Amino acid sequence: MSRLTINRRTIMLSAATAGAGLAPAFGTGRAVDQPVVRPPGNAGVYQFRIGDIRAAVLSDGVIGGPPRIYAGDAPEVELQTALRRAFLPTDHLTLNLNTLLLEAGGRRVLLEAGAGDTMGPNAGRVFANLATIGLSANDIDAIVISHTHPDHVGNLRTADGGKAFPRAQVFAPKADWDFFVSGDPDLSYMPVPEDFRRRFFGAAIKRSVEPIAREIELYEPGGEILPGLTAIAAAGHTPGMVAFLVHSGDEQLLLTTDLAYHPVVNIDRPWRPGPDRDQEAALQIRRRIFDRAAAEQMLVLGFHYPFPGLGRMLKIDHGYAWVPANWRF
Ligand SMILES: [Zn+2]
Repeated sequence: MSRLTINRRTIMLSAATAGAGLAPAFGTGRAVDQPVVRPPGNAGVYQFRIGDIRAAVLSDGVIGGPPRIYAGDAPEVELQTALRRAFLPTDHLTLNLNTLLLEAGGRRVLLEAGAGDTMGPNAGRVFANLATIGLSANDIDAIVISHTHPDHVGNLRTADGGKAFPRAQVFAPKADWDFFVSGDPDLSYMPVPEDFRRRFFGAAIKRSVEPIAREIELYEPGGEILPGLTAIAAAGHTPGMVAFLVHSGDEQLLLTTDLAYHPVVNIDRPWRPGPDRDQEAALQIRRRIFDRAAAEQMLVLGFHYPFPGLGRMLKIDHGYAWVPANWRF
């Protein structure tokens, strides 16, 4: 029996290495590029609590692009060095899509809808991650959007043009809706090719929100949108962007939305995201909110930070440092 096993394994090893010219994968006797079962990927759900509120970061997947886009004013050599020191590729920066599900008072609220298929093939996973915790799009009562960029509204529309979250009341900041959806925005400030700007950006926003446009609930920052959820004015990245504060009892969570794209280039280094429409306003509000986060040692969630995107800001001599939170069982 054992000899047979050994023989069979030996044959498999020889066949795999001879056939593909590759070393076998650990323990399987198969060539590394011939998986029998398609890998399911890594976990995209992270559950925690904010006081009485149950929370879960649900990944919608990833997007990304040339690092230069996200660090518009970085000197080239310093940018390359910062990425290398963080063991990141120097030609592509991956951004996560950390949507946040909140459950309080019998309601389920999703903060940000996610990108769907508007910005590449590696997003649209929020539905699968909802299923992982036994929920579907039909279980979402409300969706609150921080700003109307495609990676925050893309999932609102199904492939055939319907509402992807059939029961959800969608909330969006009025100033962004006026600029991107009702208006015909001049997007020449975006540091991306003209073709991308027009087809994938401007058109994607209008298309994504179309199924919910008639029932949209437009809000102004500064107050509670829903119990326990406050929108903080953070315009600059877009005309109406907000940050969010989730609070329950004496616990709170600050969502920095797109004040920063990636901690390595926008927190640990002070570089400005290229897509910030009003660079100076974005810089001022980023500093003010990061200062508060550091002073109050707040738990922070970054929409685009490495999953699950939770951590804290530390104020240091020349700026800030991002300190990822410990994984909680
Ligand atoms: Zn974004």
